[in-house]
Amino acid sequence: MVRKQKDFEKQHCCYYCGNLQKKISRHLQTVHRSENDVRSVPAENKQRKMALDRLRNMGDFHHNVDVLTKGSGQLILGRRVSADSFTAADFLPCRYCLVFFSKKELWRHVAHCNFAKTPLSTGYGDKSVQRAGQMLLCGAGVSVSSSPSSSAGYMSAIVNLLPNDTVSEQINNDSLLTRYGQILFNKLGLERAADVRCRLRYLARLKLQMSVPGGYETIIKAQHFDAVLAATKELCGVSQQRTLNGCLKLEKPHIALKVGQFLKKITQVRNFYKTLS
Ligand SMILES: [Zn+2]
Ligand SMILES: [Zn+2]
Repeated sequence: MVRKQKDFEKQHCCYYCGNLQKKISRHLQTVHRSENDVRSVPAENKQRKMALDRLRNMGDFHHNVDVLTKGSGQLILGRRVSADSFTAADFLPCRYCLVFFSKKELWRHVAHCNFAKTPLSTGYGDKSVQRAGQMLLCGAGVSVSSSPSSSAGYMSAIVNLLPNDTVSEQINNDSLLTRYGQILFNKLGLERAADVRCRLRYLARLKLQMSVPGGYETIIKAQHFDAVLAATKELCGVSQQRTLNGCLKLEKPHIALKVGQFLKKITQVRNFYKTLS
């Protein structure tokens, strides 16, 4: 049974202090009035509501990710449902507003979501609303047990099948690379696990070419752009032939294209995670 929940009954989780609050807008504007995002809430009614809803949803999303990671506590949902007929695995977040809905209802909400034009996450897009929700959770560090990307699935199809060498070691020791791999595996599925392993190995080899300490969290920062370019050239191999405009030709230029695309995706994963933490 599903019925609409009136706002005054519902508790929301504060984005700043993590406490549950019945009147979250008032709480934000009094207790956290000095926070930048609260100070810059516009005065105009509709925009004001959107800005406060945004903070409310981010707080609730954090809370829900916490509940799912720990496996205890109560999810904050877009609509109330009777507790006994649902489990936590029946809910997924909207890719735009991050509010949790039952999987069956999600598409209906997404079609009318107020945040469709100004999504709260810059994460992966996907045609399927459920898969987009799963990827969102995956990006936030929750293993989605109902999908093949659960940690066990990722372990057996990706990690365990990587060759035992220094390249694979780079993948497993890099949290951002692992997160990207999990999201990718969730999107492409078991049939394309080999493709996922291949992409991860390209990125790991690129990392090995660089003398930048730290993992991809550091590598994708703007100041390392030149180092990334140089490492990509190394990966592609530079031949002695020159192009018409006098540059040295790359032996495998397709690698540069691929690496460019993967880096863009990994930056999206990173940015998405940053907006939530
Ligand atoms: Zn608070
Ligand atoms: Zn939404």
